[in-house]
Amino acid sequence: MTDIKNKSFTVLGAGRSGIAVAKLLKKNGAEVFLSDGSNIEKLKYLDITSLKEAGIEVETGGHSEKVFKSDIIIKSPGISPGSEIILKAERLNMKIYSEIEAAFWFCKGKVIAITGTNGKTTTTILTGEIFKNAGFDTRVCGNVGLAFSEIVSEVKEDTIVILEASSYQLNDIEKFRPRVAVLLNITPDHLDWHGGHDNYLRSKLEILKNQDETDIAVINYDDDILRAATKNIRSAKSYFSISENLSDDIHDAACFIRGNKIIYTDKQKNTEEEIMEAGEINIRGNHNLYNSLASVISARAFEIKKEVIKETLKKFKGVEHRIEFVKEIRGIKFFNDSKATNIDSLTVALESFDGNLILILGGRETGNDYTRIDEQVSKKVKEIIAIGETKEKITRHFSSYKKVTVAETMDEAVSIAAKNGNKGDIVLLSPACKSFDMFDSFEHRGTEFKKSVNKLN
Ligand code: ADP
Repeated sequence: MTDIKNKSFTVLGAGRSGIAVAKLLKKNGAEVFLSDGSNIEKLKYLDITSLKEAGIEVETGGHSEKVFKSDIIIKSPGISPGSEIILKAERLNMKIYSEIEAAFWFCKGKVIAITGTNGKTTTTILTGEIFKNAGFDTRVCGNVGLAFSEIVSEVKEDTIVILEASSYQLNDIEKFRPRVAVLLNITPDHLDWHGGHDNYLRSKLEILKNQDETDIAVINYDDDILRAATKNIRSAKSYFSISENLSDDIHDAACFIRGNKIIYTDKQKNTEEEIMEAGEINIRGNHNLYNSLASVISARAFEIKKEVIKETLKKFKGVEHRIEFVKEIRGIKFFNDSKATNIDSLTVALESFDGNLILILGGRETGNDYTRIDEQVSKKVKEIIAIGETKEKITRHFSSYKKVTVAETMDEAVSIAAKNGNKGDIVLLSPACKSFDMFDSFEHRGTEFKKSVNKLN
């Protein structure tokens, strides 16, 4: 569907990707109508004048009937599939596509698309770093700041586009076909499994639907659901695993751990190579080992030399707010894991450290079950500093077996941690809660934490 001239489009949702796709379609000759349900005051970044000058008609504060007058709808990720406007468009048999589908129509380069329940941003950015360091013309986009539609016009035949793809975006594709599709994991909690007909899993698997045997699917072998669901795919299969030796004949390529080494095998070329020691990877935890192995496969698929991969993995500091090392003061190391907004993420963080932790925990939560981390907390945490709306609940839960101190502000939490900590301790902000009780966003919370740490001496 690259011939869009004289076609009319309604773009639903005037967020970053909605605005970008509206401009892209207009530039390529389509009629474009941009419609957003929010009031103009909420859409602070929306520059209606420049959109109008570009010839894009805009409506805000609700969706009018004009939405249904176009040939095709482009749906922003924030618009729920069950919303009235989408249901009505479906009743009218309108074509509905996502922003990455539309951007793909104009993409001349090769796409590496990355999806999964967790680790998308880290893997996308890490893969981008490896390709940049290898000298490729690289564009990193998706949910990581830039939208695919914003960069696609600059993409040339030899450009590598590394795209973080959420299930919302993958739900509404038709032609989208990545050269490499990475499936990191599927958390069973997200599944509502009815005889295999699960929407969440199905939308993630859409990433493979247009691939053939010349394309590559990079799949987490240790994820039973993914492994089973991708058994009969057409794509060339590349598995990664941290627990299985994958030298067997069950795949086209694989990346796994043997001893402490990262091994990459290529069945077609009949080669096996040692990439590096797993311990040399700078980012912490087994979850990041998975993210790293997935990146290695994408890199080797484009023949990037192992020296470049190794150097990048040794240096890559991770993504801000995700177990991010901040500073060491008097032998106490401070880590910012503000992105941890639920118990799953906190568990991942606790698993990434051996012990001696002073944990800053709390914020806004709905129904966290703290018994899920009791075992890890008893083993690894020396002391908890409780913040935010849920501080009383945290105190009630943990104080029978752990020292819990309440802090009213981030500054206070950090200075208590610094005062109580000894050489060799680790202060970890991994709140397992949303940030909105005290901050604007998890990014804001992490930045405030870092400011407080940097004030210490
Ligand atoms: P996403 O973009 O999918 O939200 P991120 O890379 O931003 O993923 O990581 C968010 C959080 O998810 C991390 O702070 C960590 O707790 C957890 N995480 C990251 N990678 C993985 C992984 N491979 N498996 C499980 N959990 C992970």
